[in-house]
Amino acid sequence: MKKELQLEPMKNWSPSATRPLIISGPCSAETEQQMVTTAKQIAATGKAHVLRAGIWKPRTRPGQFEGMGEEGLKWLIQAKQETGLPVATEVANAAHVEACLKAGVDILWVGARSTVNPFSVQEIADALKGVDVPVLVKNPVNPDLELWIGALERINKAGITKLAAIHRGFSSFEKGPFRNAPMWDMAIELKTRIPELDIICDPSHICGTRELIPFIAQKALDLDMAGLMIESHIHPDAAWSDAKQQVTPSSLSKIIEGLVVRKPSAEDKNVKDALSLFREQIDQLDDEIMQKLAARMKISEKIGQFKKDNQVTILQVNRWEEIIHTRVALGLAMGLSEEFSREMLKLVHQESIQVQTRIMNKADVKV
Ligand code: PEP
Ligand code: MN
Repeated sequence: MKKELQLEPMKNWSPSATRPLIISGPCSAETEQQMVTTAKQIAATGKAHVLRAGIWKPRTRPGQFEGMGEEGLKWLIQAKQETGLPVATEVANAAHVEACLKAGVDILWVGARSTVNPFSVQEIADALKGVDVPVLVKNPVNPDLELWIGALERINKAGITKLAAIHRGFSSFEKGPFRNAPMWDMAIELKTRIPELDIICDPSHICGTRELIPFIAQKALDLDMAGLMIESHIHPDAAWSDAKQQVTPSSLSKIIEGLVVRKPSAEDKNVKDALSLFREQIDQLDDEIMQKLAARMKISEKIGQFKKDNQVTILQVNRWEEIIHTRVALGLAMGLSEEFSREMLKLVHQESIQVQTRIMNKADVKV
């Protein structure tokens, strides 16, 4: 039989009296000046409750900046002392846990690349035995809910009850608009399986680019997530890691100000809950439809280039008739009206012709 997680409600240990809990700071501690100045600017906004910084960085390829190690840890603690904010960092092995506990780090998190590996998670869990520190567990890089829950269980079995999950998206071979596809249904499924477990969203690692962060942060709050982890840096473009997705402390402040924190109304709660569950499914599907349409247009671009290179016309009536015929029949078989399928396909086809026309008529830069 599966044992339930033994959890202390996050509201009892959260450094914030209200939801959402905001965790912010640079992807990595780079220099004393960068760490302390960023921290002071974040503290001055009054919008964040916890300061983050990566000290040991798990990088995909060797030879990239791999974190400052224990020297960086000193700067993180200095930032804590100078701002009064509690601090959090990623741990990936027992030595990291020991160094953090000795230095006085307030919250630890397990990174996505460690959550995938039960050996690493077990090593971290063993190092945490007998310690009372909050631990956040990021989702594994691949969309495997069991692996995520397994990591939470390992940490919990070591006696850590101040536990929450971080949703940071999932890597995928298919290149979409996000660095890590949010796959909201994974977070929703985790919440459904363990309702008392709070989830914090990390829009920075989902988005990969700063422009998309407000949209994802709002969506996370609308899915009732308990907090947000957003990377910020005094000079984001000059950051030694994850430059594109970091924001300045003042942008962070604007993002947080722009968020709508919705409260579930007391009356008609059952009706509202049921309705929002339907809407989450609709939102999820719409996201997927938009991503698929964008992917389809990217192929149209390639076709446009190919036709241009080979002197083929854009419109090929036979191909178009075949598309209409097969798709309308498929739609009918699945309960979609013929009229709806035709209208929708016509719009998609028109846009595809537009995309190809743009490519065909673009001045050829090749000499
Ligand atoms: C990070 O928070 O900087 C980080 C490395 O995140 P993730 O484990 O989600 O990739
Ligand atoms: Mn990062």
